[in-house]
Amino acid sequence: MTAAALAVMLQSALSSGRERLRIHLLTTGIVVATAIWAAQFLALLAYSARYELTFLPGPAFASLALGVLGFGLSLEMFEYRRGRLQAAWAGLSCGLSTATIHFVGTMSVSFRGIVARDLSLAISAVVIGTLLSAVALPLLSRRDSRGPAALGIGFFAASMLSVHILGMQSIRLVRLDGIELVQKGIAPLELGLLVAFGSLLLGGWALSVSMSRHSFQRMLGRHTREFSHLVHGLRDTAICMIDTRGHVVSWNEGARRLTGFNECDILGRHFERFYGESERLRGSPADALKTALDQGAYKTRGYRYRKDGSRFWADVTMEPVYDHAKLIGFVKITHDITARIEAEEHLNQIRSDLEAATANMVQGLILYDAEGRVKMVNARLARIFGVPEHIFVPGMTEEEIGQATIRSRAAMRGSCDAEAERVAAKLKSTSRSEGYVQADVDEDLTVSINRRMLPNGGKVVTVEDVTDRHKAAERLQFMATHDALTGLLNREAFRRMLDAEFAMAPPDDKVLAVAIVDLDLFKEVNDIHGHAVGDALLQEVSARLEDAVGNSGIAARLGGDEFAVLARIGKDDIDCANFAARLTNAVNFTTILLHKAIQSAGSVGIAVAPDGGETTKALIGNADLAMYRAKTKLRGGWLRYNQKMGRRSREQRELQDALRNALDRDEFYLAYQSQCLVQTGQVFGYEALLRWRHERFGTLPPDRFVKAAEENGLILAIGEWVLRTACIEAAAWQAPHKLAVNISAIQLIQPDFHQLVTHALLESGLPADRLEIEITESVIITDKNRALHNLRRIKALGVSVAIDDFGTGYSSLDTLNSFEFDKIKIDRTFLMDAKRSEASRAIIRAVLALGRSLNLPVLAEGVESEEDLALLRAEQCGEAQGFYFGRPGAVECDRLSA
Ligand code: C2E
Ligand code: CA
Ligand code: CA
Repeated sequence: MTAAALAVMLQSALSSGRERLRIHLLTTGIVVATAIWAAQFLALLAYSARYELTFLPGPAFASLALGVLGFGLSLEMFEYRRGRLQAAWAGLSCGLSTATIHFVGTMSVSFRGIVARDLSLAISAVVIGTLLSAVALPLLSRRDSRGPAALGIGFFAASMLSVHILGMQSIRLVRLDGIELVQKGIAPLELGLLVAFGSLLLGGWALSVSMSRHSFQRMLGRHTREFSHLVHGLRDTAICMIDTRGHVVSWNEGARRLTGFNECDILGRHFERFYGESERLRGSPADALKTALDQGAYKTRGYRYRKDGSRFWADVTMEPVYDHAKLIGFVKITHDITARIEAEEHLNQIRSDLEAATANMVQGLILYDAEGRVKMVNARLARIFGVPEHIFVPGMTEEEIGQATIRSRAAMRGSCDAEAERVAAKLKSTSRSEGYVQADVDEDLTVSINRRMLPNGGKVVTVEDVTDRHKAAERLQFMATHDALTGLLNREAFRRMLDAEFAMAPPDDKVLAVAIVDLDLFKEVNDIHGHAVGDALLQEVSARLEDAVGNSGIAARLGGDEFAVLARIGKDDIDCANFAARLTNAVNFTTILLHKAIQSAGSVGIAVAPDGGETTKALIGNADLAMYRAKTKLRGGWLRYNQKMGRRSREQRELQDALRNALDRDEFYLAYQSQCLVQTGQVFGYEALLRWRHERFGTLPPDRFVKAAEENGLILAIGEWVLRTACIEAAAWQAPHKLAVNISAIQLIQPDFHQLVTHALLESGLPADRLEIEITESVIITDKNRALHNLRRIKALGVSVAIDDFGTGYSSLDTLNSFEFDKIKIDRTFLMDAKRSEASRAIIRAVLALGRSLNLPVLAEGVESEEDLALLRAEQCGEAQGFYFGRPGAVECDRLSA
């Protein structure tokens, strides 16, 4: 009973809270000691009747007191140092206490005789009882299972019994009859009742204490189990208890999951197992414990190692655990923060990548918060503006950033404050809350600024240096709208400009005028002096035109040697005449270009809105028409477009249309004009002159249509018809007069021209030496090499070649020099002017002298009177042609013979 009570109470005490443990153990000591004492005296009472024993109260109660003291101290000792060994020591002490109760208790026995002791039995009672108790207590304090506790009960009961039985055996009672030895003491019955009552009292008390303790214990046990399950079950947090020396004494599920160690692997092992080797060598585990002790907690972050050697990032907290100010160990809580650390590292990587990206991006970058204050500026921004980085300070507003930038840039460039203010104002005017703007900061910097709102209310502004792009765009724009050679506007730009001007209502006193300017002799300059001189002439004309136009208009080059000017001029005719005079002066001049004396001549046509055209297209077209008229009428002059001109140009168009059908309709015929010897008046040949008989226009001279035929290419077919018809007709003449045929430049440069001539001669049967072709010097200039090549082949056939209209071209002598002509025909204008002009007479004289020196016959055209003929005679001119000898018509000899 007593042993079982000890077991129950001991177990209940051990499972109680730390603060109550001591009281429980003390109670257990009192109860157990009293129970042993009571049992002892119950046994002694059994002897008392037989041996007439009495008991001395002093030793009886002393044994109880000593027993209580002994058990109390023993269990206290057990509480103070837990563990198997401590329990064994406590058990030893309990055994001694049991022996003390027994032997001091037996000293209370009073007997009429001698109480003798067998010392060896007494000692063996003490030794055996003590040893059995030493074995019993560690077993009794085992809580993990019931078996050892039951064994403990047995050992403790055996201990009590061995002490009691061996103790009683060691006593010898020897009766001494007749001698009164009995002293005054407690009667055995009284003591028995006392003991029985005390035992019952103590037993009941013990039982009630034990029962209440037990229910409290159950509740506590349940809570403790629940809490323990909670702690043990925590899967994400590793919780482990370590003892004061660092050995693991408790291990939860979270710890198992985190480290891979099972409870059985790790319990009792040192917690440094989780550290890396270098940390272990450095003594980090010990330092951790020390820090936890000194500072109340130790927190760290670092790698920890799993059972399989892999490592993880851990957040570790260690805190000491005390019981009544006594350190009993540490609780160590470990979180696996690998994922968080990786996320942080990833974020850091992104952050540093972003920083690198923003620092190296082409654009400057400014980030504003929702209050419009600068949060971040990248390094490029300062470089774009050429200002120091430190002027950009977080917290600045956009306006402050702009001011600081402009001021700093102005200071760096050494420009004045006013200039900075102007730029700042300009930038401010371009600033919008969102979107893209381009701003010229100064002549060296153009930036594009892009503002974008962010979802958080902030704003991101990027700034890009687009100076080069801007300049390139300007250059491109210039190239697209200007002529590369002269720098004037080109045709398209001029048209757009004119459209814009035309759309604007002009001031009351002004009208819009368009002039077309065309150089008359540009082709010749190009051919004779080369393209470099031609280009220089165009540049010279452009510069002079721009000067002439000034601010009142715009000059453009439409292409080739054609220019255009638009200007607002006064309404009066005199204003137009002044405008025209300025332009004609600008293109008619003599100058030296690239060491060559160049004479520039140009014709000007002007159209004035609204009479000159009701659309821009009509204005240009009419100015062009006026220019062509001016060119044919008077070189180097100007004409203003009028209604009559328009009518004529319409007729011209109709004439062109009619010309296409003239050959098919057989509307052409040839008139022949006689060529005579000056001295005798004898006819030696005829020149074939083309006529066009049109049903509506009447009979037209070649001046009216040959140019048009040359322009549309009909001249080839017409010229072939002339040559073949003239040859056929001449072959039929009675007399073998010479036949002169005019050949256009276009015809002469055709590769098969000589074949055409051969064919005409063969077809007609006309001997080659009767045919003479007349060419003007422009023929030679057009395509000199091919023309000369064809001329040589024709000459080789025996056909002779005359140079026509001599003296009117640009360089007649050059032309004369380039080919062995057979005749020179002096242009009729010289003879017709000769009566009034000494110069003309001089020219005739010179050409005649030239002919004589070159041994070339010279024919003078335009002989209209006896007087003309007399002049030619006086100058000893050989041949002549003109109305005086006969108008173009039928051939005289045929008429005579007919
Ligand atoms: P051209 O070769 O100088 O021809 C002479 C022109 O002078 C002819 O004009 C003739 O009628 C004119 N004429 C002759 N004597 C006199 C005179 O005493 N006084 C005046 N005022 N004029 C005189 P036409 O027939 O109108 O021919 C003009 C030009 O047309 C010719 O000038 C010639 O260059 C060209 N032409 C004529 N027929 C042909 C042809 O079949 N083919 C080509 N390609 N051109 C031709
Ligand atoms: Ca001629
Ligand atoms: Ca002529």
